[in-house]
Amino acid sequence: GPLVIAVDGPSGSGKSSTSRAVAQRLGLRYLDTGAMYRAVTWWMLEAGVDVHDADAVAARCAEPELVSGTDPGAPTIHVDGHDVGAAIRTGAVTGAVSPVSTVPAVRARLLDLQRAEIAAASAAGGIVVEGRDIGSVVAPDADLKVYLTADAGARAVRRAAEEGGAGEEAVAAVRASLLARDEIDSGRATAPLTMPDGAVHLDTTPYTLEEVVDRLVALVGR
Ligand code: C5P
Repeated sequence: GPLVIAVDGPSGSGKSSTSRAVAQRLGLRYLDTGAMYRAVTWWMLEAGVDVHDADAVAARCAEPELVSGTDPGAPTIHVDGHDVGAAIRTGAVTGAVSPVSTVPAVRARLLDLQRAEIAAASAAGGIVVEGRDIGSVVAPDADLKVYLTADAGARAVRRAAEEGGAGEEAVAAVRASLLARDEIDSGRATAPLTMPDGAVHLDTTPYTLEEVVDRLVALVGR
């Protein structure tokens, strides 16, 4: 049957690059659920909704139309027809996404969309889905569940490099930002970040991307 691979872990653990590469190697679709939470957050900021007002976020969260493109070679995300692939990576969105993600109505809506993408991918042979609650909530019956972690220092260096900053100050700022998100993501009541039952835990700190991808492809065994 269609293959479903769930990849979870904290910010900057290498989930996105790893998940895309695994999907490409195995010819599967790829869904970045963090991009969906970021897209809703982008819309809330554009609409002038106070992202710390959970009732206001819940009341409006059905409004944005979200479309995810699941080609692992060129994943896309559109909100109301706009390509927001770059806009969802700004500091404003990164700083607001964790509070928006704590709102149960937001999670319920995205869960439906995520399940629909998983169902749609069965025609393509399967999908790699990455996020914080994939193995625990979105796809608890996944064929393979992976929980990726890395030292906070290593995560900060990688994320800062992706954002074009390698200096000590840039790394320290990224480190503080990702630890703040980890704390909210791990502490929230609905679908907190946690290692799912049955997941393979891989600490990627000492490995290259290629080594991690090889390891996961070997675990799939097809
Ligand atoms: O993966 P990324 O860092 O882009 O995710 C952004 C934020 O979206 C996370 O910090 C988290 O608050 C939220 N998120 C979530 N559940 C997911 C994926 C992302 O709550 N499955």
